Amino acid sequence: YEIYRELKKRVEAAGEDISVKPVLKTTGCNGLCEKGPVITILPEDIFYCKVKISDVDEIFEKTLLKGEIIERLLYLDIKTGKKVKSHKESEFFKRQKKIALRNIGQIDPANIEDYIQRGGYRALKKALFEMSPDEIINEVEKSGLRGRGGAGFPTGYKWKQAKKINSFPKYVICNGDEGDPGAFMDRSVMEGDPHSIIEGMIIGAYAVGAQKGFVYIRDEYALAVKNVSRAIKDAYGRGFLGENILGSGFNLDIEIVRGGGAFVCGESTALMASIEGRVGEPRVKYIRSTEKGLWGQPTVLNNVETWANVPVIVDRGAKWFSSIGTEKSKGTKVFSLVGKVNNTGLIEVPMGVTLREIIFDIGGGIPGGKKFKAVQTGGPSGGCIPESLLDLPVDFDSLDKAGSMMGSGGMIVMDESNCMVEVARYYLKFLSEESCGKCTPCREGIRRMLEILEDICAGKGREEDIKLLLELAETVREASLCGLGKTAPNPVLTTIKYFKDEYLAHIKEKR
Ligand code: SF4
Repeated sequence: YEIYRELKKRVEAAGEDISVKPVLKTTGCNGLCEKGPVITILPEDIFYCKVKISDVDEIFEKTLLKGEIIERLLYLDIKTGKKVKSHKESEFFKRQKKIALRNIGQIDPANIEDYIQRGGYRALKKALFEMSPDEIINEVEKSGLRGRGGAGFPTGYKWKQAKKINSFPKYVICNGDEGDPGAFMDRSVMEGDPHSIIEGMIIGAYAVGAQKGFVYIRDEYALAVKNVSRAIKDAYGRGFLGENILGSGFNLDIEIVRGGGAFVCGESTALMASIEGRVGEPRVKYIRSTEKGLWGQPTVLNNVETWANVPVIVDRGAKWFSSIGTEKSKGTKVFSLVGKVNNTGLIEVPMGVTLREIIFDIGGGIPGGKKFKAVQTGGPSGGCIPESLLDLPVDFDSLDKAGSMMGSGGMIVMDESNCMVEVARYYLKFLSEESCGKCTPCREGIRRMLEILEDICAGKGREEDIKLLLELAETVREASLCGLGKTAPNPVLTTIKYFKDEYLAHIKEKR
């Protein structure tokens, strides 16, 4: 914002001396987070990175007034070794396909008119006036959209289940309680394009017959809370929310609930308990939330990215959406690409691209000429995938088969200097602290596994500890109540499967 303010001051001070006055606006992050602050100058499409306040005068004098390019501020494409004028020419952007992130970096998230100008709320009008609720649900079902929060449950089928229950009120919820270490996909959408979520929720609510919606946002995400609040207020102001939306006779209210910081509240039943004002603990899912969710009423819960996809599916059609991706994983997926990779940032790729393309083409490879060792997908309870599986296509089913999972989209790259036993210990520590403690296998099992890992890392391990870890992992996975416990052993299981030699090296070290 400081750079924006300085540039604004400079433009205003120039007054009538410049014939074409630049329109300045702030946007969300366009994905190249580590190159920020960035400035894009349109229509020339000049992309400047790592801009400092001291660069503002030069940008104004040379680029805005004379159209000259300042070479040193251009983006250096690591893959080709060349400086590029437009971000679109870089390997980082060229290989992406933006659907959920379509507006981020393009619009001012605090300006509803910006969103509308880029086609925002067009899908809502189509849904309200040209489609019946069943037609909307069929379209979403045909698109093949699966929940982007982790489980990959078919969204259209979920909506259909909620629609057919004849019990009111019904609710829609947006899960924005992103708690995975290293993940910031939902945060970026909430901060950079909040109306896409609100529009998706209104369409979903209309389709299933809900009249109340909640956006559950992680408390640490102050800017997301601010921008989503503003978006809700502006949507009311334009008649997209409230009573008799755009004269359609449909009513919907949406409000924000701020999470309390517990990782487990990202789990659907714990999240609903938290909204109800109860302790955020999971419950057994013998009845689906679509039947009895929030306050025992039919509830559709989808995550931020899923909701953000909905307006595009309604607008462009299921056929278009389902033409992207693989047979069973349609569309795109947003990932936060972090760790030992040159281009850390937020990316969106068609389902089915390989891990190699993501890490080496989009991510620009491993810094410092080091060797790639593993990539962890799916958040703290995902698995670590080795080099031999780099050509694995990224989709729900392939990652599951490799012992990891898609999760909500965290992707952490590790190089040859990372100890994989330490990595497993780090995630187990996180999960043991975040386990809510309601069920014994998770509460005690993860703790015991962590103790064994700590012993191994401290050179106090025994060979039989590996067998013990595998047995405990099996029990925790089978007997835990919710997804946190069921998936918690993944980092240990995959590191033992793919990097057993590192466990053995630690164990032998002590001798
Ligand atoms: Fe709580 Fe873990 Fe049991 Fe889930 S599996 S209910 S987080 S103790």
